[in-house]
Amino acid sequence: MNGTLQERLDVVVGRMRAACARAGRSPDTVQLLPVTKTFGPDTVQAAAALGLRVFGENRVQEALQKIPACPGHLQWHMVGHLQSNKVKIAATLFDMLQAVDSQRLLTLVEDAAQQSGRVLPVLLEVNVAGEASKFGLAPGGVEEVLRAAQRMLHVQVRGLMTVPPLARDPEATRPFFRMLRELRDDLQARTGVPLPELSMGMSGDFEVAIEEGATWIRLGAVLFGDRQRRVAEAAE
Ligand SMILES: *Cc1c(COP(=O)(O)O)cnc(C)c1O
Repeated sequence: MNGTLQERLDVVVGRMRAACARAGRSPDTVQLLPVTKTFGPDTVQAAAALGLRVFGENRVQEALQKIPACPGHLQWHMVGHLQSNKVKIAATLFDMLQAVDSQRLLTLVEDAAQQSGRVLPVLLEVNVAGEASKFGLAPGGVEEVLRAAQRMLHVQVRGLMTVPPLARDPEATRPFFRMLRELRDDLQARTGVPLPELSMGMSGDFEVAIEEGATWIRLGAVLFGDRQRRVAEAAE
């Protein structure tokens, strides 16, 4: 990994701004979510010292150990698949759940948020390419879940999230980002529910995601370097 965290962040912010300029978007319409999975509280602390305030994690167990060791004013988003037996604790740990991928899970989140006396913002994860190996709602199934969410008082669906098929060329991913945006536009028109957030784009393709309308880009490797696999395995 080259340079300091500050230097890498500066490069990322420059690339974000350039992508916004190409798309005719204001830079403040895109939020950077640093994903700190496998990295410790020291890394979070260093990023917080540079002004980052919202962080992403993909495992409840790991977040449960990490978050209490990090500065208290930070916010945390869950970006990974949530197991049903972890929903209760997730509803107290996180400020947003970005990967709600079934109606059953949504119902569990509603119950857990009610018990914690809060309203939890969530994103619905969509499996845009219909990959058998991936979590996420089928595009055709999102409307039903969204309508169910409208009857719930403790979850608020703020938009959609996706993890498209891995591709070496970011241009290959563009159609999937576009699909998510068009699905969002269509759902908004059909249901009248405002869905302002689109969480899409990672280290390899975030500029294309911004060009296609991302409001959250989730970045790990480009900021923090290759993941420490040992830590990830120990936390399973
Ligand atoms: C790890 C992770 C990311 C960040 O991936 P990078 O390629 O390291 O930027 C983004 N989203 C999710 C859901 C992740 O699990």
